[in-house]
Amino acid sequence: MIRLSGVAKSFGAVEAVHGLDLELSRGKILALLGPSGCGKTTTLRLLAGFESPDAGEIEIAGRIVARGAPSTTNVPPEKRRVGMVFQDYALFAHLTVAQNVAYGLKGISRGKKRDARVAEVLALAHLDGLEERMPHELSGGQQQRVALARALAPEPAVVLLDEPFSNLDAALRVEVRTEMREILTAAGATAIFVTHDQAEALSFADEVAVMFEGRVVQVAPPEDLYHRPATRDVAEFVGEANFVPGTAEDGRLRCALGDVPACGECAGAVEAMLRPEALHLRPLWDEEETEAGVGATVLAREFYGHDQLLKLRLDSGPVLCSRLGGGPGFRPGERVAVEVQGPALVFPNPSDNGAPL
Ligand code: ATP
Repeated sequence: MIRLSGVAKSFGAVEAVHGLDLELSRGKILALLGPSGCGKTTTLRLLAGFESPDAGEIEIAGRIVARGAPSTTNVPPEKRRVGMVFQDYALFAHLTVAQNVAYGLKGISRGKKRDARVAEVLALAHLDGLEERMPHELSGGQQQRVALARALAPEPAVVLLDEPFSNLDAALRVEVRTEMREILTAAGATAIFVTHDQAEALSFADEVAVMFEGRVVQVAPPEDLYHRPATRDVAEFVGEANFVPGTAEDGRLRCALGDVPACGECAGAVEAMLRPEALHLRPLWDEEETEAGVGATVLAREFYGHDQLLKLRLDSGPVLCSRLGGGPGFRPGERVAVEVQGPALVFPNPSDNGAPL
C-alpha cells in the first residue's frame, strides 16, 4: 500500500531524512518510532505531501505521488488519498461533530449519500449521540475520535497520525489507544503513526519502524523488535536492556552471569543483551547455595504496582537490572542469586576486546 524508496529531504544543512526505505501492506498499522529529531515527522509530512523529497520515490496505493530530482513529481496533498490526524486534533471549533466529519467528505455533494457516510463513520468511532455537540463540549478522547472519524470518512488509502496520544493524560492515553486501534481495525484502514514512546509503538502497531538520524534501522513486528533488536542502539531504545561482555560459541555464552544459552549472528568476543525480566532472582540465605545462579546484592528497587525494577550488583562487579512481578520482592541490601531465563542475544563487542569474564 505504501512504499518509500531512497527518500531524502534536507532543510538547509540539516539532513532530516536520507536514504529512507519503507514498505507497508494494506490494513496494517505501522509506528515510526525514534528519538526527537530523527526525522519521523518529516517522513509523515513527505507522505502527506506537505513536503517534497529531494531524492527518492513515494508510492501510495500503486501510484507514485512524489519523486525527487531529476524527474520531479509532486501530487498535492488533497489528491493523495491520505487522511491526517494531528497531535492537537485540529477540529473546526465552529462546526459540530457531524459537520467536522462531513468536512472530510468535501468531494461528495450534500445529500443522502454523504449523510449516510457521516452516520456510518460516527457509529464506527462510537460517536453516535454526539453528532450535534461542538468540539469544546467533548473530552480529549472524544475529540481524538472525531479527528479520526473525519480522516477515515473519505476512505483514504492511508491514515497518518502525528503523535496522536501525546495530548492525553496517562490514564486516558491507554484507553484512547485501545479505542483508536479498534476503530482502525474495524475500518480495515492502513495507518502510519509517529511516536517517540516505545510502549505506545509496541502496543499499538503491527509493525514498528525504528528511525535514527534520518534512516530506518529496523522494521519488525513488536515482539521481534523487543526480543531480536538488530543493533545495540535499537535494543536500548526499545525498552530496558542489560549488556554484559562475554564469549559466545556453539549457542552458549560465557559471561558474568555464568554459562547461558545464546542466540545471535556472531561468535567470539561479544556483548550480550538480556531484558530485565530474563533475570530471575531468589533469596540467597546461604552463601554456599549459588550453584544455580550467581550471587548479587540488591542496590535499589522501583515499585510500579504491576511490576518492579531491581538494580543489582553482581559479586563480580557488573550492575544489572531485573524486572519482577508486583509481589513483595526484595529490598536494597538483600542478597540474591541471579538466574538467566531464556537465551541472551549477542552482538559483536564494540570494543572487540571482550575477554571472557
Ligand atoms: P520530534 O519527535 O522532536 O518531533 P522528529 O523525529 O519528528 O522529532 P523531524 O521534525 O522530522 O524530527 O525533524 C528532523 C530534523 O529536521 C530536525 O533536526 C529538525 O530540526 C529538522 N527540521 C524539520 N523541519 C524543518 C524545517 N521546516 N526547517 C528546518 N529544519 C527542519
